[in-house]
Amino acid sequence: MRKKIVAGNWKMNTTVPEGVELAKAVVAKSVEVPAGVGLIVATPATHLCPVAEVVKGTRVELSAENCADKEKGAYTGEVSAAMVASTGAQWTILGHSERRQYYGETDEKLVEKVKLALANSLKVILCVGENLEEREAERHFEVVKTQTENVLFQFTAEEMASIVIAYEPVWAIGTGKTATAEQAEEIHAFIRKVLADHFGKKVAADMTILYGGSCKPSNAKELFAQPDIDGGLIGGASLKADDFIGIALAF
Ligand code: PEP
Repeated sequence: MRKKIVAGNWKMNTTVPEGVELAKAVVAKSVEVPAGVGLIVATPATHLCPVAEVVKGTRVELSAENCADKEKGAYTGEVSAAMVASTGAQWTILGHSERRQYYGETDEKLVEKVKLALANSLKVILCVGENLEEREAERHFEVVKTQTENVLFQFTAEEMASIVIAYEPVWAIGTGKTATAEQAEEIHAFIRKVLADHFGKKVAADMTILYGGSCKPSNAKELFAQPDIDGGLIGGASLKADDFIGIALAF
């Protein structure tokens, strides 16, 4: 049975002391969440070491928000997958739409990043999703299929066990506009079919597919009730421990 997960993406928010306090609050409230729900916090790279200390020995897992597409060397300012893993983090988000949009992250670069993450025993939350223009042109299925094929089809069925997909319609991220539960379910079921056609039914059935885009405690229940939605990648609402845990309680 695939895992249910609620992951918080802090983005470029909080100073290190603020992040440590937020992580402590998440850990304290995590006892309220049923055992079967995985909890992950994805923090800025600067926060990984101190937050790793906070979540150590708890049920809360730690993720980076990105890692480099190169192993090591003269790449000033980059943080490698090996560096992320050495902090104690178990996960990295890759391919977030903000990275694709503002930092020229292509599917080709993402293949390299996923390879390096897996080689360093990091699990990956790979983001896919269409922008508003693509949605309005009714190209969302095609866009998501292409992103999935370009990146994930470069990996084996075995490697897919270390990958989670986050479907995040770009028009719903940070805008307050959530995809309706029906819109989200339609794409999640479609992604699962794309996976089934390539990797077989078992890989598709075991794949955790998260929804992301203005998810909050008030709409999480309806979204998570859908058969193909296995949890959420949460941006804004993950900056308040009450809201983040409130979303995880929606299961
Ligand atoms: C995100 O950026 O991953 C996200 C889902 O953001 P928000 O929840 O703020 O829309």
